[in-house]
Amino acid sequence: MAVQTVAPRTDSPVDLGPAAALSCRECGHRVPLGPVFACEECFGPLEIAYDFSAYDAEELRKRIEAGPANIWRYAPLLPVPADVADKPNLNPGWTPLVRADNLARELGVTGGLYVKDDSGNPTHSFKDRVVAQALEAARAFGFTTLSCSSTGNLAGAVGAAAARAGFRSCVFIPHDLEQGKVVMAAVYGGELVGIEGNYDDVNRFCSELIGDPAGEGWGFVNVNLRPYYAEGSKTLAYEICEQLGWRLPDQIVVPIASGSQLTKIDKGLRELIGLGLVEDRPYRIFGAQAAGCSPVSTAFKAGHDVVRPQKPDTIAKSLAIGNPADGPYVLDIARRTGGAVEDVTDEQVVDAIKLLARTEGIFAETAGGVTVGVTRKLIEDGVLDPALTTVVLNTGDGLKTLDAVAGTGLTATIRPNLDSFREAGLA
Ligand SMILES: *Cc1c(COP(=O)(O)O)cnc(C)c1O
Ligand SMILES: [Zn+2]
Repeated sequence: MAVQTVAPRTDSPVDLGPAAALSCRECGHRVPLGPVFACEECFGPLEIAYDFSAYDAEELRKRIEAGPANIWRYAPLLPVPADVADKPNLNPGWTPLVRADNLARELGVTGGLYVKDDSGNPTHSFKDRVVAQALEAARAFGFTTLSCSSTGNLAGAVGAAAARAGFRSCVFIPHDLEQGKVVMAAVYGGELVGIEGNYDDVNRFCSELIGDPAGEGWGFVNVNLRPYYAEGSKTLAYEICEQLGWRLPDQIVVPIASGSQLTKIDKGLRELIGLGLVEDRPYRIFGAQAAGCSPVSTAFKAGHDVVRPQKPDTIAKSLAIGNPADGPYVLDIARRTGGAVEDVTDEQVVDAIKLLARTEGIFAETAGGVTVGVTRKLIEDGVLDPALTTVVLNTGDGLKTLDAVAGTGLTATIRPNLDSFREAGLA
């Protein structure tokens, strides 16, 4: 198999800030920055290698704190040019870290429970963080069309970012997604293509398109721009630590689709330790899946190092990747940090969505139901320590997955008078 690339339309050396090169996660082979994602030596995934050697911890902390209230406050740690905040971009991030005392009481957490609520991003999911990085890489490499294979949220994030930045967009989704996600992806005016198949079929199709002349000039944010895209998830780790007062959480519960977000949250935490921005002490990372698409938790519980693909069948469609690219790395991280990977049924997902809404006023999409449900299960099973500081991610907005809670509605319908109000038992 040849390494799949699309020739960039520029010869100029790229300026992506502190990003120095691409380096293979498996064998360490280094190549110059470019729209490549697989190692030419071993086909391992390429990651951004940085030069952070010039940073002084105290100066860097001050510079970050003085930065904008979005992910670009962390520009010195991301593969983006120094003037990124001046470019047309959706500027996501700096979302609330909600102290969830009511939920903590229900779950029996005493060490401090927080929800990192990413539903307030520009297109209402965490995907705006990763697309913002890919967009800067697409600009640097001279691409003119932004594209992706998506389980739903990514399609909307790419459509919106392309609209803001003046790119053409053409995105690919499974044909049977939630209406909220389809409309959200289509409204920005780009092309939206439904593929007859599941996400893994969509992804395979996109890989073919990249290798074809028809895909020339196309930046697929999660394929040929994946090394850049993936770095956006580090900003979740940075924000959580900064919002905790430059402190590591003891435990963090992260949803898993491809596993990219979880692996980059770990990378972000390790970078902060290495840079001296947080104290070096242990943290545990827990992964959360839906039972109907649980290839990583199945492998974790079986003690396997390899992840056997599954055919997804769950209401948590944003996490429905049956063959997760970063699955083996998630297993490594959960085991290395003393965490775990667990899954919950669709029924438990719905219960958890309602629990979070009822206790904290946060309406999560199904992925948030997965993390809250898994948190509850891990506490009940004695795996997650309720006496430690715990952060649970909500990565998307419940308005996009209304069907999951479709049974929820009116308490009563009454005539517009007080007798009717009293008869309904509401007085
Ligand atoms: C994409 C997505 C994730 C995580 O995706 P990874 O592929 O594991 O990085 C989590 N939550 C939501 C809502 C998503 O859309
Ligand atoms: Zn390699």
